[in-house]
Amino acid sequence: MAENHVKVLILGSGPAGLAAALYAARAELAPVVLTGMQLGGQAALTHTIENYPGFPEGVGGPQLGELFQKQAENFGAKVEFDMAHEVDLSQRPYTVKTDSGEYKADTLILSTGANPIHLEIPGEVELTGRGVSYCATCDGWFFKDKKVVVVGGGDSAFEEALFITRYASSVTLIHRREEFRAGAILQNRAKQHPKMNFILDTVVTEVVGSDKLESLKLKNVKTGAESTIETDGLFIFIGHSPNTQMFKGQLAMSDLGYVIVNDKMETNVEGVYAAGEIADPHFRQVITSAGMGAAAAIQATRYLEEQEAVHS
Ligand code: NAP
Repeated sequence: MAENHVKVLILGSGPAGLAAALYAARAELAPVVLTGMQLGGQAALTHTIENYPGFPEGVGGPQLGELFQKQAENFGAKVEFDMAHEVDLSQRPYTVKTDSGEYKADTLILSTGANPIHLEIPGEVELTGRGVSYCATCDGWFFKDKKVVVVGGGDSAFEEALFITRYASSVTLIHRREEFRAGAILQNRAKQHPKMNFILDTVVTEVVGSDKLESLKLKNVKTGAESTIETDGLFIFIGHSPNTQMFKGQLAMSDLGYVIVNDKMETNVEGVYAAGEIADPHFRQVITSAGMGAAAAIQATRYLEEQEAVHS
């Protein structure tokens, strides 16, 4: 089993992790990034990112991830296609066990992101990948000229529903209330789109199909009326939960499982920082995650300098 001792180990390769890598690399700390499952994080699953400054025409999610990676590597960061599965934060250097070996790290920057929340209704798990999806960029293409339902009322649901209109013959957005959380621009775009329909005050209660999705059972939450809608696809965008299971019992977390950080991205464990969606239930933007990653790396750099000064 390979063992590596590094000054800065970064878990996760979304905007937070790769921005942290850039800053730590420029501080000549030779950071190592463990990519996790998805190089580029959730941003890499987004077709077009229109609100990251510097790209007036928008930029592809995977392309932005590659640019982040290249920039960090240009300054000496090492990006490893590896997955952490156990951490020991009880003593420094901290131990991280991965698929391919073990790392000892003087500081850790945790940026393991978040995963989509499920509706948890009958049929959802069984038909995932057979009509049920949580990623329009990954699966939208499969629904060319087909009927699609999107669940959710936030920015994600609207943005992804609009993306799916490129392929689908119709996109019906089902939301449990009458008002949406999504921003006005997205709402207006969706409401004016000829392929989009809306069903409000309604929840999906069951996903129906044998080897592929056929229909959804619906319930109006105000009247209690039940109905069925035929559809080829169901895309669920009802929020995310942070990937923090690995740190449970070792780091202070909120009730919802987000790592608690102060304004310097410090967790309650010295030398351990968290950045991006793992510590952010509020903003979830590429730019805010990247900003948190940069801040975490700057703070890690200062901490390592202080440690060196004390021990020299
Ligand atoms: P969100 O804003 O939390 O919206 C989640 C939506 O799902 C809400 O409308 C919620 O309904 C609904 N929902 C939650 N649980 C449900 C359930 N069990 N059954 C049915 N519906 C349920 O999540 P998000 O859209 O993923 O966005 C999260 C954050 O990222 C936001 O701050 C958002 O602004 C940001 N974001 C921004 C962009 C962008 O700027 N382009 C893109 C994507 C995301 P209620 O409204 O009734 O609670």
